[in-house]
Amino acid sequence: MTREQVFNFAAGPSVLPRQALERAAAEMLNYRGSGMSVMEMSHRSPWFQEIFDDAKGKLKKALDVPDSHEILFLQGGASLQFSMVPLNLMEGGTADYAVTGNFSNIAMKEAKKYGTVHVAASSQDDDFSYIPAQEQLTISPEAKYFYYCANNTIYGTAWNYVPETAAPLVCDMSSEILSRRVDVAKYGLIFAGAQKNMAPAGLTVVILDKALAGREAPYTPLMLSYKTMIEKDSMYNTPPCWCIYMLGLTLDWLESQGGVAGVEAIKHEKAAVIYDIIDNSRLYKGCARPEARSDMNVTFRTGDADLDAAFAKQAQAQGLLNLKGHRSVGGLRASLYNAQPMEGVQVLAAFMKKFEVEHHV
Ligand SMILES: *Cc1c(COP(=O)(O)O)cnc(C)c1O
Repeated sequence: MTREQVFNFAAGPSVLPRQALERAAAEMLNYRGSGMSVMEMSHRSPWFQEIFDDAKGKLKKALDVPDSHEILFLQGGASLQFSMVPLNLMEGGTADYAVTGNFSNIAMKEAKKYGTVHVAASSQDDDFSYIPAQEQLTISPEAKYFYYCANNTIYGTAWNYVPETAAPLVCDMSSEILSRRVDVAKYGLIFAGAQKNMAPAGLTVVILDKALAGREAPYTPLMLSYKTMIEKDSMYNTPPCWCIYMLGLTLDWLESQGGVAGVEAIKHEKAAVIYDIIDNSRLYKGCARPEARSDMNVTFRTGDADLDAAFAKQAQAQGLLNLKGHRSVGGLRASLYNAQPMEGVQVLAAFMKKFEVEHHV
């Protein structure tokens, strides 16, 4: 298949803007007269320093990050933040965790190694199909931070409000960062693996209130200290250079789309195309409760595992890739990140209608 015949609905690593890939391809062998590719140059070179500063500056602008907060470019995936957050912020005390899916559940369990975890809310009682309301959060007065995952990639739910808490908010935004405007000042720490909506896998973006740095447990590995990374501007050691470069190219594309506000204006429209089909279907059932639905990851199923598998297989054969749900839950999932064009959504919609006509009994 050619790239033109394909729409990729993968949850991550996922589709990147074509414009970013084309620029990377054009600059691949010789980055702007350096005679080297970005993959081959020193991270201490003026070439790379410019790439780094440019990507950081553009991210700061895209998310309107206040000067109180630092942007870090780290490695280890979003998953390493499950450990770094408690190591750096828990101070052996208590932290509140909202468990609304697989990733927040793992993060909560990891934090137990470093202090007292209080589960402030959980939607596990109904298969993580909903997001607890503010009134349902049981907040501990002594919590060092309140942790939640803004968009639950596997279950297809999203928080449609920012929790009100006295403690700093820590948020996993891996699968929704850059898709909606965020008041960064409200957060103590935001993190996101790049491979959902920003860049190739290998880069984790952390945005943290500098006032929270320096509280790490004494046994914290040097590499896992936010303080170290702030002091060295993410270059204590070699950063993920290629991914940072790609992030810069994605941010250029984002700007051409009207920035975060521009993509935010159409993300709901894109998701609504698929949710409308689900809501008017006798074959498809949405997995998330309507009021908790994610615009980024649309989860649904037919109720018959074999039929779900046939759906994913036939879709794949027609160039609609990666619609199989996460292995832990099954079903189907269409990820509609920023770089997924409306055209791809419409082709999927047409396929869903056709499949329903052919398979509904
Ligand atoms: C994908 C994902 C993760 C895990 O990311 P890694 O970079 O693979 O560690 C964590 N949280 C959320 C919300 C995700 O979507």
